Amino acid sequence: MNPAIHCLLATAAILAASSPAVAQKADKPAAWTPASTMSSAVRTSPNMEPALSFPGQAEAARAKLAELQRRTGRKPNIVWLLVDDMGFGDPGIYGGGAAIGAATPNMDRLAREGLMLTSAYAQPTCTPTRSAILTGRLPVRTGLTRPILAGDKIKVNPWQAEVSLPAVLRPAGYTSILVGKWHVGEGVGMRPHDVGFDEFYGYYEAQKEISQGVDERRYPDLVLNPDRLARLRATGSSESLVHGVRGGETRDVSKIESIEDMAEADRVLAEFTVQKIATLAQSGKPFFLEHAFMKVHADNHASKAFKGKSGSKFAYKDAVVEVDALVGEIVAALDAAGVRDNTLIFLTSDNGPQLDSWPDSGYTPFRGAKASAWEGGVRVPAIANWKGMISPGRQSDELFDLMDLFNSCLSIAGVSEAALPKDRYFDGIDQTSFLLLDDGKSRREKVYIWAETDLMAMRMWEYKIHTKITETHAQWLDIDMSTKANVGLAPWLFNLYIDPKEQYPVGHRQNAWLASMAAEMKAHAATFKAFPPKDIGLAQ
Ligand code: CA
Repeated sequence: MNPAIHCLLATAAILAASSPAVAQKADKPAAWTPASTMSSAVRTSPNMEPALSFPGQAEAARAKLAELQRRTGRKPNIVWLLVDDMGFGDPGIYGGGAAIGAATPNMDRLAREGLMLTSAYAQPTCTPTRSAILTGRLPVRTGLTRPILAGDKIKVNPWQAEVSLPAVLRPAGYTSILVGKWHVGEGVGMRPHDVGFDEFYGYYEAQKEISQGVDERRYPDLVLNPDRLARLRATGSSESLVHGVRGGETRDVSKIESIEDMAEADRVLAEFTVQKIATLAQSGKPFFLEHAFMKVHADNHASKAFKGKSGSKFAYKDAVVEVDALVGEIVAALDAAGVRDNTLIFLTSDNGPQLDSWPDSGYTPFRGAKASAWEGGVRVPAIANWKGMISPGRQSDELFDLMDLFNSCLSIAGVSEAALPKDRYFDGIDQTSFLLLDDGKSRREKVYIWAETDLMAMRMWEYKIHTKITETHAQWLDIDMSTKANVGLAPWLFNLYIDPKEQYPVGHRQNAWLASMAAEMKAHAATFKAFPPKDIGLAQ
């Protein structure tokens, strides 16, 4: 067992031993009581995250979905638009847009015509978020705590014992397709079409990992050295656009051979999605489509059509403008196919901006960036749009964890959580009523913020408590020059409403909840005693 997980389990064991209430919870789930008086959450099953209960809202959401199905005669479609590394402050409606040199009219329209979430949380990096939203489980539980990189020796296929959203949707009649970036394993058994998707059309890796093999200006020591390039390729690094079908053929459609090829990747992917939507809409079956953009993850290269099209003219900003335009094309394809009123669209980013690559990076108004446990690393734009089902003009600051997409999409597809296995812990919460009702309230009381195998922080109400912190040792290098540190005597507790940048803890000076929030974190840690995390070898 890796030391970090061992440490975590030891902590959970100590906490469980020192707190009879916590130990009792694991043994007698029916008698479960909240860890502190702060909590109103209800645990309905020992392996499900406790959630706030609004029975009237749950019933109203069910009735709304049933009425839609009566009207359309079929189950709803689900479309996720996942932008890579886009910052909270990038879209115009979140305070960015034209004001920071890259207008985003299509994203802004989606938000205005739907529900704009301002306290939605991702994991701090790509792979953890991408696996968490498909499993409803924290990366520390599945073992997918960081990207599986070319050359990594993993001990066990992380997907082997996992139940993915598309795999659960299939028996409910859904066709599931992933277009774009995967980044959650490229070996046989780990590819999208091995783990539940019916079809995959995209890339296994992030833009930078692909373009580093062709961009001689940025990576001359690699690109101009054939021996090194051959060694990189020998690790299994792939520059291919792959088309794979579940149980069928997997083939390379084309290869990225220049930065110009890389620049056009999103255009090619969007064209595939637009065509696929027309086909899927005619198939008579409901569909789940995850369109995962390659942009705006570094290294961004402006495509022919969008070079200089942003106010800023910088490559990152041109990439934001391109992604926004492609979002518009995909939404227009749903309109043209006549399925817009039967399709939930959810647009978000998989983590905060990667300030390490600035100025090829997004913007966040918060402290920290991608890879950190500060708000800048994990708080992301998130927009839910569903014509006729989500009223225009809604905005909410109530909590949403992107893992909630797993449970919510199951619910929208009419799949009961009772169908999920009982031998593992699910961290996602069904937020269907929050999303669909005009007065919908979030059922999520807390968001736990993990970085790899470390429980760093927790958000509850407008408070955020850190038991560990991410420290940078050079300006904005949250990935390449940072450390994790333990806090001192007291956890660092911030009030995000008066201090959104997490600069000055209110601690025990100006807050009544320090001990209660610490107790809530301990109760969370104790779930790992009852349901031990998997170690797939990435934590070594
Ligand atoms: Ca990312």
